[in-house]
Amino acid sequence: MRLQKKIKASGGIVTVVDPLPYMTYQPFLPEVAGGNIEARHAVVSHRRHLKDTELIDGEVVSIDHKARKAFVRLSEEETIEIPYQDIIMSAGAVTKTFPIPGLAEHGIGFKTIEEAVALRNRVLEKIEEGSAEGDDPVRRRALTFVLVGGGFAGIEAIAELEDLARAAIRRNPRMTMKDVRFVLVEAMGRVMPEVTEAQAEGVVEHLRERGIEVMLNTSLASVEDRTLKLINMPDKSPAAEFEADTLIWTAGVRANPLATESDFPVDDRGRIKSGADLRITGDDGPVDNAWTAGDVAAVPDLSGGGVGGYCVPNAQHAVRQAKHLAANLLAAREGQEVTDYKHTNLGAVAGFGLGKGVANVFGFGFSGLPAWLMHRAYHGTAIPTLERKLRVFSGWFWNLVLSRDTTQLEDLERPRAAFYAAAAPAKKKDDGADKAQSSQGSKKPGEKSEVGSGSGGSAK
Ligand SMILES: Cc1cc2nc3c(=O)[nH]c(=O)nc-3n(C[C@H](O)[C@H](O)[C@H](O)COP(=O)(O)OP(=O)(O)OC[C@H]3O[C@@H](n4cnc5c(N)ncnc54)[C@H](O)[C@@H]3O)c2cc1C
Repeated sequence: MRLQKKIKASGGIVTVVDPLPYMTYQPFLPEVAGGNIEARHAVVSHRRHLKDTELIDGEVVSIDHKARKAFVRLSEEETIEIPYQDIIMSAGAVTKTFPIPGLAEHGIGFKTIEEAVALRNRVLEKIEEGSAEGDDPVRRRALTFVLVGGGFAGIEAIAELEDLARAAIRRNPRMTMKDVRFVLVEAMGRVMPEVTEAQAEGVVEHLRERGIEVMLNTSLASVEDRTLKLINMPDKSPAAEFEADTLIWTAGVRANPLATESDFPVDDRGRIKSGADLRITGDDGPVDNAWTAGDVAAVPDLSGGGVGGYCVPNAQHAVRQAKHLAANLLAAREGQEVTDYKHTNLGAVAGFGLGKGVANVFGFGFSGLPAWLMHRAYHGTAIPTLERKLRVFSGWFWNLVLSRDTTQLEDLERPRAAFYAAAAPAKKKDDGADKAQSSQGSKKPGEKSEVGSGSGGSAK
């Protein structure tokens, strides 16, 4: 946004390549999963807000910076070359996983808007399913939600999902909170490294008071046939074994692998090496016309507060670095001095469902309602564009007046099922229904989706 007009005025063009037509404000994903923010309001349309930018709906697959060319895959069949003068590498991070048997097949991440929407629907769907079935292993499995990873995102996610379940169960006379089981699994001895140790202990206590089982020093060993095996850390002795239909994985992120598909210098964690001025910088100094920011970059933290001397991967840094980078890039083009990025972390604010949260701001700790209000005030004003801020705030207002909307949208993964049932010749229906589903999702009419994945779990 900072570059487009000035570059255009100088006779150039900014080109944004992204496989998505929108920017996702990831700090809102937990509230989207909790049903407190409408999914579309947590994303910002490129087309609407980048009017002076050339938008390319594709994925950069590699970069040859010496030749000043980016290779962009538009579809399975078509890859194009885009020549450029300056490049900004800002492809973010991807979910970090480990080779745990069954995880890829049964788990779901928590990094995209689609995952957040799927989890909201999943919790509501399982509560409806559970209220129809008796007290048996199938019901217990359906109503068990496991989240692995007690970082910032994981704690917010499980707290918001539990809050959503509470709101849905209040409206369901056949269910009580005793029927559902939320389990948080964390390999370390504490949660949320972003807050103080005392606050982290307070968070665990708060979650346990709400009935969420918090298993510290515990890791996931395998998930097969919906049976989760957990082990104690670090000795890896068996800790627990139980069945769950929903497994959410939030155990960290790593730099986008695109970083290594280029001729740019990367560090041992796969991040693009950056100078404090946000120019890509190797052992021989800055690389001409190459810039980086956000989760994909290893940017030195001059405030002295970073982990290992580098800025931690968060939106607070990403947004500020982006603005600084734009100013530096324009300065470099005009032959002026570039300046170093320096930002002292303001702290952290987290929401745990309506009226609940924790915050550590300028070294002062808060919890409960004040922390939750800070969380909403900070993020409500931090999401880019006035239009989005207004949508988010008005949504919160109407939720407070009308209460949270716990309507579950059915059949989002197989929207053609109803039409197919009506339109297909009777004797072919059984056969064809499978095909209609396989092009749209994995379920047959009447079936419910299983473990973790809102996108492709096995069918019951
Ligand atoms: C659940 C959750 C909660 C969070 N909460 C907070 C919080 O409360 N506070 C906070 O400060 N931070 C929070 N974060 C972290 C924060 O969202 C990230 O640090 C931030 O989004 C990083 O910004 P970025 O621009 O570097 O990357 P992203 O926001 O990930 O953007 C990267 C972009 O690059 C695109 N892309 C990826 N690969 C390619 C490719 N090959 N070609 C072209 N385009 C590509 C992607 O589609 C995406 O649009 C949270 C993250 C999550 C997941």
